[in-house]
Amino acid sequence: MLFIRLQLAIGFFMPESQAILDESIIAMPIDNKNPNWRSSTKMVHGGTTRSPFGETSEALFLTQGYIYDSAESAEARFMGEEEGYVYSRYANPTVSMFEERMCLLEGAEKAFATATGMAAVTAAIACQLSAGDHILAARALFGSCRYVCEKLMPQYGVECTLVDGKDINAWKAAIRPNTKVLFLESPTNPTLELVDIAAVADIAHEAGAKLIVDNVFATPIWQKPLELGADIVVYSATKHIDGQGRCLGGVILSDREWMDESLYDYYRHTGPSMSPFNAWVLLKGLETLTVRVQQQTNSAEKIAQFLFEHDDVNRMLYPGHPSHPQANFAAKQMIRGSTLIAFELKGGKRRSFAFENALRTVQISNNLGDAKSLITHPSTTTHKNLSDEDREELQITDGTIRLSVGLEDVDDLLEDIDKALIASA
Ligand SMILES: *Cc1c(COP(=O)(O)O)cnc(C)c1O
Repeated sequence: MLFIRLQLAIGFFMPESQAILDESIIAMPIDNKNPNWRSSTKMVHGGTTRSPFGETSEALFLTQGYIYDSAESAEARFMGEEEGYVYSRYANPTVSMFEERMCLLEGAEKAFATATGMAAVTAAIACQLSAGDHILAARALFGSCRYVCEKLMPQYGVECTLVDGKDINAWKAAIRPNTKVLFLESPTNPTLELVDIAAVADIAHEAGAKLIVDNVFATPIWQKPLELGADIVVYSATKHIDGQGRCLGGVILSDREWMDESLYDYYRHTGPSMSPFNAWVLLKGLETLTVRVQQQTNSAEKIAQFLFEHDDVNRMLYPGHPSHPQANFAAKQMIRGSTLIAFELKGGKRRSFAFENALRTVQISNNLGDAKSLITHPSTTTHKNLSDEDREELQITDGTIRLSVGLEDVDDLLEDIDKALIASA
C-alpha cells in the first residue's frame, strides 16, 4: 500500500517539479513569523523563506549577484522601486534568513549580518561617529573592541574615554557635550563583572547618545539588552550562535530608523557583509542555540559550585552563583548566568599552566561558546597586550583562568577538572 502511494506520489511529483523548474522562482508561502511562537520555535522556523522546491532545510544561495528580467527591472531595483536583491554585499537571501531569525530572537526591528564579530563592532561604532565626537566605553572590553575605541577611532579625530563600567557615577562624570556613543559588554571578559545596562542606557539617552551593547558573554538567550534600554546590540556569531567551532560571523541589531539612517550607507560601501555560506551554517546554529546554551549553563552552574568549594581556588566568579559580588543584580538583569566561569587558582602562572596542561577533556583555546569545553589563561593570551596596571584594574592575575563550558557530560568535565587540579598541585 505504502509502495503504491509512493509510486503515485513520485509519478505525480515529477512533471510538477519539472513545471516549476521551467516556470518561475516564486518562493513557496511559509509561516515564518508567527508572533505567538515561543523563542525556541522561532529559532527553528523564524525567517525561513522556501524556494519552489520545498526544501526542508534553509537553502544556501551561494551567489554574488542577481539577474534582472529587463533593463527596466534593473533600473527599478536600483531606484528602490522594485523589491529584490541587487548584490550580495548589500543583501543575500540566505543572509536575510539569518538576519530575520536574529531579529526574532533579539526583539529587534532590523539586523545586518557581518563577516566577523569585530566587523559588527567596528561598523556599529564607526558608522555613527565623526571627527570631534566622543565615545565613552567601559574599560573591561574584549581586546579588539578596546583597540577600536581606544586606538582606531582617535586616528579619525574621535575622542575616547574608558571608565570602570560597574561605577555608574563614573559614566555620568565622563559624559561630554560631544559624547555620541556609549559602549559596553556585560558580563565582562574575562572576570564576568556586570554593568547595569538600564542605568547606562538612561545616561546615554539623557545626553542624546546611543548605547551599544556587546552581548556575547550573556548570550541572546540569557540577556535582552534592547528590553533593558540599549539602542544597538552586537554579537560575535562566531561564539554561541555557531557554537560548533566552524564559521566566523557577527550581527548588528537595532531599530529600523537607526539601521536605515546610520548604518545603511556604511555597510553598503565598506563591505563587512557575511558570506552566504557562513549565514547558512549560522542559521543551523540558531536551530539548536536554545538547547545548547541551556545545557551548557546547567553544566556551568555545577562546575562553578565545584570550583567555589575547592581549596585550591582563591576566587570563583560566575554570575549565576550566590557568591558573585553582584549576584542580586545578576538575577535582575540576566535570566540565567552564562556558559563561562572565571576563577583564580592558588599558585599563579606556574600552577595555572600545569593545570591547563593536565586537562584531557577540556581543551586549551582562547575561543568560547563552543560545544567543546575550552580553557584560557587570559594574562598570557587574550589580555597579554594590556599594561600591568590595566590588568590589575581589571583584576586579571597570573592565576586567573577562564573556562567556557561545552556540551560534554558534566561528570566527565568535573572528573577532568578534579584530576587536573590534583595533578598540578
Ligand atoms: C569574540 C568576541 C568578539 C569578536 O568576534 P570575532 O567573531 O572573533 O570577530 C567581540 N566581542 C566579544 C565579547 C567576543 O567574545
